[in-house]
Amino acid sequence: MRYRFTASVETSLRALFLMAFLMSTSPQATAQTGLPTLGDTSDLTTSAERRLGDRIIRELYRDPDYIDDPVLVDYVQGIWQPLLAAAKARGELSAELDERFAWEILLGRDRTVNAFALPGGYLGVHLGLIGVVATRAELASVLAHELSHVTQRHISRLITQQSKQTPLLLGAMVLGALAASKNPGATQALVVGGQALAMQNQLNFSRDMEREADRIGYGLMAPAGFAPQGFVSMFEKLQQANRLNDNGSWPYLRSHPLTTERMADMQSRIPPGITPSPGAVVQASSEHAIVAARARVLSNPGVDTLRQWIAEPRGSGFQSQPLPRRAAALYAAALASSNLRDATGARAVARQLDDLVRQDPAAHRLVRLLMAEIELAAGDASAALASIPDGNAHRPELVLRTQALLRANRPVDATQALQTWVATHPKDSTVWQLLASTWQTQGQGLRAIRAEAEAQAARYDYAAAVDRFKAGQDMARRGGAAVDHIEASIIDTRLRAMESLLREQAAER
Ligand SMILES: [Zn+2]
Repeated sequence: MRYRFTASVETSLRALFLMAFLMSTSPQATAQTGLPTLGDTSDLTTSAERRLGDRIIRELYRDPDYIDDPVLVDYVQGIWQPLLAAAKARGELSAELDERFAWEILLGRDRTVNAFALPGGYLGVHLGLIGVVATRAELASVLAHELSHVTQRHISRLITQQSKQTPLLLGAMVLGALAASKNPGATQALVVGGQALAMQNQLNFSRDMEREADRIGYGLMAPAGFAPQGFVSMFEKLQQANRLNDNGSWPYLRSHPLTTERMADMQSRIPPGITPSPGAVVQASSEHAIVAARARVLSNPGVDTLRQWIAEPRGSGFQSQPLPRRAAALYAAALASSNLRDATGARAVARQLDDLVRQDPAAHRLVRLLMAEIELAAGDASAALASIPDGNAHRPELVLRTQALLRANRPVDATQALQTWVATHPKDSTVWQLLASTWQTQGQGLRAIRAEAEAQAARYDYAAAVDRFKAGQDMARRGGAAVDHIEASIIDTRLRAMESLLREQAAER
């Protein structure tokens, strides 16, 4: 089935609710009665919820809107990991849930403002949200809220509640789904129909759940190192958008109606002394402003908008703006120029930006990465390599350096760092794919195929992984004495593991 990043929380929940039900349907019950038993549903187990999440995420990875931008991912991870650690330290996130769930964030190249929790510990975040938040703390407040929906098991509670309330609806869905399981083409129509039906049943987080996610999310902010006022200024931002009645570009508002109750609740939590304007206390950093600018450019705004951004630093009054705003405008202008294939223009603006933020290490690092990106797009691999900040410990540097080394025809120099990375991050599909490219250009076909297979496995596409591992086996057989036996035996082992996962998946259908 098609699961889109553009779906709002409500529609996501409707779709996943349907999927959850399909998964909890035991084949035995179906065989005996012709229909699965309804009504007597217990809470979704953590492992069932995780499997459900894995399936949804496999579809999301295939979505053309899915984007693995190393710079944005790195920034979001820098917020997400401290929040997770705080949730663990405060006992909100149990050891069992920590181990069972994925705790991964996927970014979607979508201009609308949205973030949503999915089953199994996955979060979807639109670039539109990153592009609109003014501070790191504001973004942290949204992630903390969504994280708390997951730690409080709101999704499993929802699914359980709903399956008790509407057995007739579920019956219709299951009948359709059983038919669909024999005819994959019917799945799409079924989901559309299921959504229309479920629409009447208000599949959404309840007000109590929202309040709980606010309260628990708020409690994570300070321990995770974020200004709790980020919650209030984010609410103020939502309230403004609400007043403007912004049509459709704020799906987050539809799923998270901003009630006066929620506002008052959050404001009352801010300790006295920080009033009257809690939002104003949190300063915007150049680093954050640059990241937000990047998110706006990468959300594909169209050529006219890119041109406006390129013109912005030349406008009157630009010099009187605060530094973070100027940094963001220059960054957007440079990246937009590069995307419109104007390397000369991009370089000139990037140099201005470089001078502007030289004293700010976090912002300066992002500018160095941008300069490398501009050079790489212009085809100058050695200039790109010269711009990339030292070290391979950070993913954006590692990915960009690898791309530049591949372009410079120096794959050997990239391999070691990539191998080290996947050893500690075995689910990093992008880096596996880069490793496959470096092996390929070194004529190491077997290793390249294995890395390609791992890249598929990391995105839960077990069928594609099996396909690649089998291709590896064939190659090893044909290779005879020249074959790398260690690699061949890894491939055998991994193929068996993937085949077994694939069988498990088939049994759940
Ligand atoms: Zn919520």
